[in-house]
Amino acid sequence: DISPDGETLEACAGVLQEVFGYDAFRGPQADIVRHVSEGGDALVLMPTGGGKSLCYQIPAIARARAGHGLTVVVSPLIALMHDQVGALIEAGVSAAFLNSSLTGEQAQQIEKQMLRGELTLLYAAPERLTTPRFLALLDSLHERGKLSLFAIDEAHCVSQWGHDFRPEYRALVVLHERFAGVPRVALTATADDLTREDIVTHLQLQDARRFVSSFDRPNIRYTIVEKKDGSAQLMRFIRDEHTGAQGHDAGIVYCQSRKRVEEVAGMLNDAGFNALPYHAGLDAALRQRHQDRFLREEGLIMVATIAFGMGIDKPDVRFVAHLDMPKNIEGYYQETGRAGRDGEAANAWMVYGLQDVVNQRRMIDESPAADEFKQVLRGKLDALLTLAEASDCRRMRLLSYFGEASTPCGNCDNCISPPALDDATESARKLLSCIYRVQQSSGMAFGAGHLMDILRGKVTEKVTQYGHDKLSTFGIGADLSETQWRALMRQLIAREAIHVDSAHFNTLHLADAARAILKGESQVWLRQLSEKKASSRSKSGR
Ligand code: ADP
Ligand code: ZN
Repeated sequence: DISPDGETLEACAGVLQEVFGYDAFRGPQADIVRHVSEGGDALVLMPTGGGKSLCYQIPAIARARAGHGLTVVVSPLIALMHDQVGALIEAGVSAAFLNSSLTGEQAQQIEKQMLRGELTLLYAAPERLTTPRFLALLDSLHERGKLSLFAIDEAHCVSQWGHDFRPEYRALVVLHERFAGVPRVALTATADDLTREDIVTHLQLQDARRFVSSFDRPNIRYTIVEKKDGSAQLMRFIRDEHTGAQGHDAGIVYCQSRKRVEEVAGMLNDAGFNALPYHAGLDAALRQRHQDRFLREEGLIMVATIAFGMGIDKPDVRFVAHLDMPKNIEGYYQETGRAGRDGEAANAWMVYGLQDVVNQRRMIDESPAADEFKQVLRGKLDALLTLAEASDCRRMRLLSYFGEASTPCGNCDNCISPPALDDATESARKLLSCIYRVQQSSGMAFGAGHLMDILRGKVTEKVTQYGHDKLSTFGIGADLSETQWRALMRQLIAREAIHVDSAHFNTLHLADAARAILKGESQVWLRQLSEKKASSRSKSGR
C-alpha cells in the first residue's frame, strides 16, 4: 500500500527508533506493523506488557507520513487515553483524545484540528465515535482519502461471553460498513476461542490476519490455595513474600464486593500495610486520586473490585491477589496479568473455597439471561474451577485454555511443591450415594453442611429430625475431616458430578458425571491433608 516489500518494514523500524527510541521490534511486532502499515486488517492477541500499542502507533505514523491521514484509536478508558496521548505528544507525535473529560469547546477545537489534517492519532471512546455527528466528520476525511486506519483496543469488550462486555463496542461494526477499505486492527490481551470468534463476527474481521502471541507470562508465579480465613491468609502472604526492609511491595487485591473491599483495605491498614480501596461506589474524584497514588507512590496495595485495573500501566506491580474467585479464566488471566509487567518476578495468588463456587453459580443462575447464555457462563466458570482444583502445572492448564501447548513450568505452586494425592474415589462414592440416599428417603435435597454431618456421623437436631442417623451412609465418612469433605465436594462440583441448586438453599444434587464415579469407571484424587503434605515435602528435602 505505502511502499514495496521491505521498504515498509524499514520505514517502520525508522519510526520505532526515531520516535520511540527502541532498537528492535519485539516478537511479532515487526510482522504486525508491516501488515497493518500495508493496509491489511489484523486481529492481534498479545499478553499484557507485550507491546500492543506500538502495533498500531507505528503503522499510524508510517501511514500518516505517506499521506494517508488520520488513525482513529478506539479505547474504552479515559485514563489510558490520557497516558498514551501524553506519551505520544512528548515523543513529538501529533495526537489528541476525544472523551467526556473535555469541555464542548475543547472537543470542537480537536475536531477542527482533525478536519484540517493536523492529527496523526485520535483516541476516542466507542460511544462518541459512533455518533452520527462524528461519523459525518469521518466521512469528510474519508472522501478526501485522509482516513488512514482504525485501531480497536481491548477488542474483547465486544464479546458478551467475556468478562468485560461493553455493548457500545458492538456498534463499531459501522466502521467496516461505512468506511470499507480503511484497514482495521483489533487488539486484546485476553480472548479464548469463543471470544476470538465473537470479535471476528461482531467486528466483521473475517479477512483479518490473526497474530497470536504466546500468552505465557513466565515471570508470574501462579498459586491457588484453599480459602480458610481469607484475609489472614492474605496478610501472611504479603508479609512472607512481599515485605522487606523497605516496607512492602505494590500489589492489587481483588475482592467481589464493595463492602469486602472496604473491610479488607481497613484491615490491611490496621495491620500496618499501606492500602487504598477502589470500587465503583466511591466518588469519581476519590477513585482517581487513589489510582494516581497507586501509580505514583511506591509500595501501595490497591484493594479493589474488578472496576480497577484495565489500562493501568504500572510496571512494578509485584503481586495480584484474589480473595474471591473471578468469573472465568479470561478474567483471572487478565487480572493476574497486571502483575510483573516489567518482566521481574511477580506473584499471582488466589484463595478460593466452596462458598466462591456456590456464589458464582448463584450469580449465573439468578441472572436474567437466557438459558443458552447461562450454559456458556457455567462452562467458563467450570474451566476456572478445574484450574483451581488442578494438582498439576497451573501454567499448562492456563495456556491450554488459550489453545497453547506447553510443558510443566517449574514456576507455579504445583510444580514447586507437587501436592501429594490420595485416591479418594471411595470417599467420592460415599458422598454421591449419601446425596442419593438422603434424597430418596426424605423426598428432598440437603446442603453441604448437613450431608457432611451425616457422613461424619454427627448426631445433630436436623439429623435426628429427618432420621438420617438410620441411613446406611450415616457415619461412613468419619475418616475424612470437614476440610477434606469440602475439597472433595468442590472437586465433584467442578467435575459436574454434583450440581448445586442455588434456587433451593444450595442443595446438592447428583449430576451427569456422578454415574461414572459411582460405577467405578472414573477415579477421584484428593490432595492429602496439609500436615501430611508438609512432612512428605520435608522428607524430599524442599
Ligand atoms: P500492552 O499494551 O501490550 O500491555 P504496551 O504497549 O503498554 O503493552 O508495552 C509495554 C511496554 O513495553 C511499554 O513500556 C513499551 O514502551 C515497551 N515496548 C513495547 N515494544 C517495545 C520494543 N520493541 N522495544 C522496547 N520496548 C518496547
Ligand atoms: Zn507449573
